[in-house]
Amino acid sequence: RAAAALAGYRGPGSTRDGVPVAILANVQDGAGARAAAAAHAEGVGLLRTELAFLGRAAEPSIDEQAQGYAEVLAAFEGRKVVVRTLDAGSDKPLAFATAPDEANPALGVRGLRVARRSPGLLERQLDAIAEAARRTGTQPWVMAPMVATAPEAAAFAALVRERGLVPGVMVEVPSAALLADRLFEHVDFLSIGTNDLSQYTLAADRLSADLADLTDPWQPALLALVEATASAGQRAERPVGVCGEAAADPLLACVLVGLGVTSLSCAASSVAGVGARLATADLATCRRAAEGALGADDPQGARAAARAVLAGA
Ligand code: PEP
Ligand code: MG
Repeated sequence: RAAAALAGYRGPGSTRDGVPVAILANVQDGAGARAAAAAHAEGVGLLRTELAFLGRAAEPSIDEQAQGYAEVLAAFEGRKVVVRTLDAGSDKPLAFATAPDEANPALGVRGLRVARRSPGLLERQLDAIAEAARRTGTQPWVMAPMVATAPEAAAFAALVRERGLVPGVMVEVPSAALLADRLFEHVDFLSIGTNDLSQYTLAADRLSADLADLTDPWQPALLALVEATASAGQRAERPVGVCGEAAADPLLACVLVGLGVTSLSCAASSVAGVGARLATADLATCRRAAEGALGADDPQGARAAARAVLAGA
């Protein structure tokens, strides 16, 4: 039955009782976006723009950037595409944007913070995104990675709105989750990056195999910050998505929806599995699974609690 449902998933995503939850894809270029469209993703929840430029010595021109972004927008014409501005630094160093010789790169000048040392880089990227929107007629949402404070969100939002685009920020740092209400005074949406949010919440390197139990996305502390962020979204009546690896786990996806997130973005290969699983569970059941997971002591307990509730659904 599960295999049949998976093969049959065509979107759009929803719970069994018809609550819509967009199931989007994480992509890095036009080819990835076309594959995601073929896999019935409803849009792009995370375009990781830095990945196309990892090997490059110099900043790509506005025109070259616009061409790349336009390919992604064209694959989802008129639909939802969330473009993330360059997340350079730490595990994704870019020669033209990353601070050399940092003692703690994960805590250093990465993501939006790069704008402090590279004046104009962010503005040129936003110009390229606006140009791609003009060329394709599809208006993307634009979000910044590694935002820690409301003033950072405000400054970013102003630059995005100046160009007629819709601003949001990623919630990857606990400070952003804790003050999500204040972020919503400036931006139209939030997107939770669970990979980094778990790293910074548990103080455990996301690349360390030795610490994988701590960065497990089922950690109750991570789920509590997802709930806090999603609740802020409900108060502001604005969307809160999840675009980290957590959204690719079908069981956890049901829990995230139960915690209140309004969209999920995962690898294209995971879209059908997540969509098919979510379609078997009512919102009320997702909420009970979320309560059970939040109340557990550890990831194993959280999984077991959610599985017990969702088994019948
Ligand atoms: C995340 O941190 O969860 C995220 C989606 O961003 P990235 O994995 O690219 O750091
Ligand atoms: Mg991240």
